[in-house]
Amino acid sequence: MISAKGMAVQSATTPLTPFSFERRDPKEHDVVIDIQFCGICHSDIHCARDEWSGAKYPMVPGHEIAGIVRAVGSQVTKYKVGEHVGVGCFVDSCRHCDHCTQNLDQYCLKGVTLTYNAYEKDGTTLTQGGYSNVIVVDENYVLRIPDSLPLDKAAPLLCAGITLYSPLQHWKAGPGKKVAIMGLGGLGHMGVKIASALGAEVTVLSHSDKKREDAMRMGAHHFVATQNPNAFEPYAGYFDLIINTISSADIDMGAYFGLLKLDGTLVVVGAPEKPLTIHPFPLILMRRNYSGSVIGSIKETQEMLDFCAKHNITPEIEVIAPQSVNDAYERVLKSDVRYRFVMDMTKI
Ligand code: NAP
Ligand code: ZN
Ligand code: ZN
Repeated sequence: MISAKGMAVQSATTPLTPFSFERRDPKEHDVVIDIQFCGICHSDIHCARDEWSGAKYPMVPGHEIAGIVRAVGSQVTKYKVGEHVGVGCFVDSCRHCDHCTQNLDQYCLKGVTLTYNAYEKDGTTLTQGGYSNVIVVDENYVLRIPDSLPLDKAAPLLCAGITLYSPLQHWKAGPGKKVAIMGLGGLGHMGVKIASALGAEVTVLSHSDKKREDAMRMGAHHFVATQNPNAFEPYAGYFDLIINTISSADIDMGAYFGLLKLDGTLVVVGAPEKPLTIHPFPLILMRRNYSGSVIGSIKETQEMLDFCAKHNITPEIEVIAPQSVNDAYERVLKSDVRYRFVMDMTKI
């Protein structure tokens, strides 16, 4: 076994504390990765605090992992020792269903094996995530990080980047399309950068005025502070696509649907603890669509990393030591992060 050190939660109401555990020895197709950096996704907080139920403790969160290959199994062909690699939200899937065989493995019909808070296919081993110094992952679920992307800035692409890239591609954001991003956090700011690189007109719908300058610098064309009275009026029926990245359900969804044009689509990626409620009228009256999206496939995640390297797109990050993770959680909850905390896991 390989000994690992990390930060874990032991229950929904206790903070993260140092934790020693073991990773499996590499099997034939496994890659052993020395984790250098791990991003803090709001999903880590939802999970650690059991806001989605089904939490399994002890839990080492973290699915925005960037590192360096330490060793490879005897049959590994894709990666070599010393290469820069990443791991995102899942580390296995059934590999045989219609979705897995069509590069839609994030929608595996048997369910993916999440990077943490899940059981391996053996049904007993609990997966543990990237708030740690080492991880062992099958080569087919490892991503190649292009040399031009620094590892600290590459980490958040593995979840925040792909979660916005996938719906922007699926709903064809590009020249002539008006796209709005709800919430300028870790996910939202990647949405602004990627949508504007794709050539779409981008509007940020943020709850206060505080992030206006940042949004425009990131490539947004318009900024709406949704708390302002009458903020929504100028954009009624305006957008082709709205992506909701907000982590809270405490929002008036009907007002946002009113911003879509005929046949426009609102895609929800934010996953709050409580249900989002919507009266059907804003959908009925303008034949609007309501959809959702989860991360992206392994193939699409590689495509996204290469796209970000080519277009020089990186997240805006604040690098912290793993010991500061509990303070970082509090700041994320207050929307006080610009725009992703990334932990230096070599300091664990
Ligand atoms: P984050 O960095 O905390 O950003 C969330 C943003 O939502 C905040 O910056 C804030 O933006 C806005 N917000 C928060 N509370 C609000 C409130 N009460 N009213 C209005 N706006 C509010 O979180 P994140 O890491 O980007 O994750 C966002 C959500 O996506 C989480 O629920 C996470 O679990 C989920 N997620 C889903 C997927 C997927 O595959 N579907 C993947 C990753 C994460 P403003 O300050 O601009 O208003
Ligand atoms: Zn995430
Ligand atoms: Zn499958």
